[in-house]
Amino acid sequence: MLHSAMSCGACPVSSSKQTLYDQYVPILQRALSSAVAYLQGMEDRPVRPEAAAVDALESLRGPLQDAPESPEVILEQLDRVGAPATVAKNSGRYFGFVNGGCLPAAMGAAWLVSAWDQNASFWVQSPVAAELEATALEWTRELLGLPRGTGGAVVTGATMANFSALAAARHALFARLGWDVENDGLCGAPELRVVAGEEAHPSLSKALGLLGLGRSRVVRVPVDGQGRMRADALPHLDSRTILCLQAGNVNTGAFDPALELIPAARKAGAWVHVDGAFGMWAAASPASRHLTAGFDQADSWATDGHKWPNSGYDCGLALVRNPEELRAAMSIDAPYLVLGARREPADYTPEFSRRARGVELWAALRQLGRSGMADLVERTIGHARRFAEALRAAGFEILNEVVINQVLVSFGSKEKTLRTIARIQQDGTCWCGSTVWQGRTAMRISVSSWVTTTEDVERSVAAMLKAARE
Ligand SMILES: *Cc1c(COP(=O)(O)O)cnc(C)c1O
Repeated sequence: MLHSAMSCGACPVSSSKQTLYDQYVPILQRALSSAVAYLQGMEDRPVRPEAAAVDALESLRGPLQDAPESPEVILEQLDRVGAPATVAKNSGRYFGFVNGGCLPAAMGAAWLVSAWDQNASFWVQSPVAAELEATALEWTRELLGLPRGTGGAVVTGATMANFSALAAARHALFARLGWDVENDGLCGAPELRVVAGEEAHPSLSKALGLLGLGRSRVVRVPVDGQGRMRADALPHLDSRTILCLQAGNVNTGAFDPALELIPAARKAGAWVHVDGAFGMWAAASPASRHLTAGFDQADSWATDGHKWPNSGYDCGLALVRNPEELRAAMSIDAPYLVLGARREPADYTPEFSRRARGVELWAALRQLGRSGMADLVERTIGHARRFAEALRAAGFEILNEVVINQVLVSFGSKEKTLRTIARIQQDGTCWCGSTVWQGRTAMRISVSSWVTTTEDVERSVAAMLKAARE
C-alpha cells in the first residue's frame, strides 16, 4: 500500500505518458493564437457573419471519416472555416436578444476549467468546482439583495433556472397537500395553479411544460403597456398557487410591481417565483436598485450569469429561499454515492454530470467586484438611454420606458421597421433583432456587454439612422 501510494506521488511519470500530455501543447498554443487573432479582429469584421462564410460551413459537414485526424488539422479548420461563421457576439456592437459578453477573467477561467476537465456533480469529484460554485451563488445572493440562507443551483441558463426553481415550488406546494410528487408523479395529484403575467418570458412556459404543470394551463394576468402585471387584475391566490413574477421584461426591461403583489401572495400562502434573468442584476447598482424593491420577499428566483454579469456562455442560477425545497426536488440516492455532509452540487441540479461553469461566474464576479458590477449595470443602462435619446431625436418612436438596458424602437410601419432592421443587420456595424411588442413591430436594442463603449453606441446610432433613411 505504502509502495503504491509513493509511486503515485513521488515517481516521475513515464516518458511515454508524458508524450501523451505533450500532445496538448501545440494544440493549446494553436487555440491561444487563433483566439487572440479572433478577438483582435473583432473590430474589423461585420458583427454578422458573411453569407459566404456561412456557406463554407458545408465543408465541415459530411460523414465521419474512418481514420483518426490530427488535432492540428482540426484546429486549423475550425479557425479557418468556423471562426468566420460566428456572430461577433463579444463585440461591443452586438445588441441582439439579451446576450452578455465574456469578461477576460471568465474566458481565462473557462480555458482552465477545460484543462481541468472537472465533473462538477459531487464535491469528491471536484472540490474546487463545488466550493467556487457555492461561493458564486452566495455572492450572487448578496448582489441581488436576497435573504440570507437562500441557496441554489448553477445551471445552463435562466430557462433551466426557472425549471429548477419551479421544481422546488412544485415540491413544496405538493408536500403541503400531503402529495409526494417526486415519487408519485402528477397522475392523480391534487391540482396546482400557476399564475403569470401575459408578458412572461416563453422559457417560463417551457419550464412549466417540462414540469407537467402545463404551458397553457397558466392563468394569465393582464399587463400594462410596459408589460407589467396589473396588481388590480390579480386572480384569487391560495396555497396551491405558484405566482410567477418578472424582474426585467425581455422586451421592455420592465419590472412587475413586486411591492404590491408579493405581500398579497404570501398572505394567501402562494409560492412566489421571480424570473429575473437579467433584470434582478439591477439590484447590484445603487442607481437602479429601487427597481428590484420587494422582489427579495419571493420564494425563488431565476437569473443568468451569462447576461448582465458577462460570465460567458453558459451559466444560469436558480435561487431558492429554503434550499431544502430544491434539494427535495433534485437529490438522488445510490449506494455508490458515499457522500459527506458538504453541499453536493448534484443534489440541487437537474443534471448529474456537468461542467464546472460556476468557476467562470466566480471569476467574472471576482474581476468586477461590487463596484465593477454596479458600474457595468449603470454603464449599459446609460448606453441604452443614449440610444433612445438619439433615435427619438431623429424622429423615431421609442415604444418603452427605458428603465434598464432595453430599448424598443419603431421606424414607422411594420414593413419599414423590418426593412430597416434587415439593412442594419446587413450593414454589419452592429446587430439588433426584431420583436412584436403588444402588436407593434419593433427593433430591440439590448446593451448587455462590458465591451460596449460610447463610441460603439455612436457608431451604431449612425448606422441605424443611415439604414432608416435609405
Ligand atoms: C433570457 C431570458 C430567459 C431565458 O434565459 P436563458 O439563459 O436563455 O435560458 C428567461 N427569462 C427572461 C426574462 C430572459 O430575459
